[in-house]
Amino acid sequence: VNRFRFIAKSLIHGAIDWSGRSYLQRRNLRGKLIILTYHSFCTKWPRGLFNSIPINRFEKQVRFLKGNFQLVSLQQGIDNLRQGRRADKPYLAITIDDGFQDNYTLAWPVLQRYGVPATIFLATDFIDTGRSPWPTQLIEILERTKVQIMETPYRAELGTLDQRAVVARDLKKSWGSLPPMERFERLKQFRQHLRVNEDTHYPPLTWNQIHEMKAQGVQFGSHTVYHSILPKVKESVILKESNGSKQRIENVLHAPCQLFAYPDGKHNLPSKKILLSAGYLAAVTQDKGFNLDADNFLELKRIEVPFHDPMSSYRVRVSLA
Ligand SMILES: [Zn+2]
Repeated sequence: VNRFRFIAKSLIHGAIDWSGRSYLQRRNLRGKLIILTYHSFCTKWPRGLFNSIPINRFEKQVRFLKGNFQLVSLQQGIDNLRQGRRADKPYLAITIDDGFQDNYTLAWPVLQRYGVPATIFLATDFIDTGRSPWPTQLIEILERTKVQIMETPYRAELGTLDQRAVVARDLKKSWGSLPPMERFERLKQFRQHLRVNEDTHYPPLTWNQIHEMKAQGVQFGSHTVYHSILPKVKESVILKESNGSKQRIENVLHAPCQLFAYPDGKHNLPSKKILLSAGYLAAVTQDKGFNLDADNFLELKRIEVPFHDPMSSYRVRVSLA
């Protein structure tokens, strides 16, 4: 069913794209800010649970963006909206969440080659300890396990990718409200149960790499310390997540850290209040859409790019939302 829907969607997108509608839509987007979300990049076709973009696809996407948008850093895009500036083309900012090392090894050379600005949101515990953000660990365990039937925390078959995706979604939901250290403990047990070793295919950036990219214009923002889903945890945890990561980034980079990306894009009123008092100026969600001048800067909308997008779908996605 999924595959059929995917093919149907691709055909429809192809037709919309062919008709030139996305081009017209882009023209209507003048003065607005489009923010794209990426996470990770790879050289081989991904296994299907973790959203990693093949780098040759990313390069095609960047080439398309260069021709059709005014590419800006997130900070510049926000400033443009605040001041009501309008360029001939809509503004577009690339953001990358979590802080995977492939941002440096794969995406950064492409961004440099085309002179494209980007903002990377760091989950600082990931950079400091190498311990992957908990949703990434969960996905990686389920991607790599050879165990066919899982017995705990409940019994489930893991024969197909779809079955694994359902388990990933369930456990993400039920573990989201746990305190950060307890989540890591659950993951440790889960990893042992499904016999997946500790090393990861998705290591973090090093602070040296971050320094080097920053020196050449890449901006860095906070994506919390432990990647807690803010509306699901206590306010004391939200406070630590937002302040802890901000301080860590500011201490290492000797520059203010004023941009924030909500883990999973999830936000609520308490989290926004805490971000404001922590000194953040803007925060990006995963609410789908474009940003207008009147928008709330603590609820900036973004468009997530999935790895399986053919160019026709991608063009429509970034033009129509
Ligand atoms: Zn994230």
